[in-house]
Amino acid sequence: MMTPVSLVGAGPGDPDLLTVGALRRLQQADVVLSDDLVDARVLALANPQARILHVGKRGGCVSTEQRFIQELMIREAKSGARVVRLKGGDPFVFGRGGEEADALRAAGIEVEVINGITAGLAAPTSIGIPVTDRRCTPGVALVTGHNGEGGRAPDWAALARSGLTLVIYMGVARCEAIVKALRAGGMATDMPAAVVSAAHTPRQRHAVGTLSGLPELLRREGLPSPAILVIGEVVGLAAVDWLADAVPARSQQA
Ligand code: SAH
Repeated sequence: MMTPVSLVGAGPGDPDLLTVGALRRLQQADVVLSDDLVDARVLALANPQARILHVGKRGGCVSTEQRFIQELMIREAKSGARVVRLKGGDPFVFGRGGEEADALRAAGIEVEVINGITAGLAAPTSIGIPVTDRRCTPGVALVTGHNGEGGRAPDWAALARSGLTLVIYMGVARCEAIVKALRAGGMATDMPAAVVSAAHTPRQRHAVGTLSGLPELLRREGLPSPAILVIGEVVGLAAVDWLADAVPARSQQA
């Protein structure tokens, strides 16, 4: 019986946010296929004998590369290696984990999925935003800001009306269009909004403002990718004084 391939969530950066399951899989791995977004401090916890292969694609999603990753995983698993496919955040949240799991199963390989803490939850928490605070919202929507490759774009007008906190992945490049679409859906111009960039890494930065001010805020602050946008009343609960002593975060109020 072949050992299952583990699709493992590496969390957003800081190894403190790894699960015990993720750590165990890393310590037992023969091969680790790692995305670019995975923090070096997490990779450093892998079995020192393990081969670490960097297969990620930063930003863009190139499908030939995706096929290559899948073939490589299948080859390694069939050779008997204990394979860990390490992905930033959670493997099943915008990580193409579902496609990779399908490809492995289609090749007759068993798959296990080890959850990770997704950036969309860890980033708001890092600046004190409770994403589902019931005083403000009935829930949270995790959505992509990137209209890509056969994926469906969110219905921004419906989201604007939903009253849900919006946590937007891959949204920086299309921020202007997203803000316009939310406005067209009736969202207030002064709805609190935040950007958290490189959350839980030493490069973390953030900025807090309003929906209509978001594009300008991004331009002015030049916050680097990867970044999460958070839009909703809960952003008003951001722990601004807590931020003053937050480890690497540079507090910015706009
Ligand atoms: N599977 C990942 C998401 C992959 S999509 C997860 O669950 O977190 C890549 C997007 O995730 C980036 O464009 C960015 O929006 C977000 N992201 C990943 N790591 C991040 C981090 N440390 N800080 C802020 N955003 C991050």
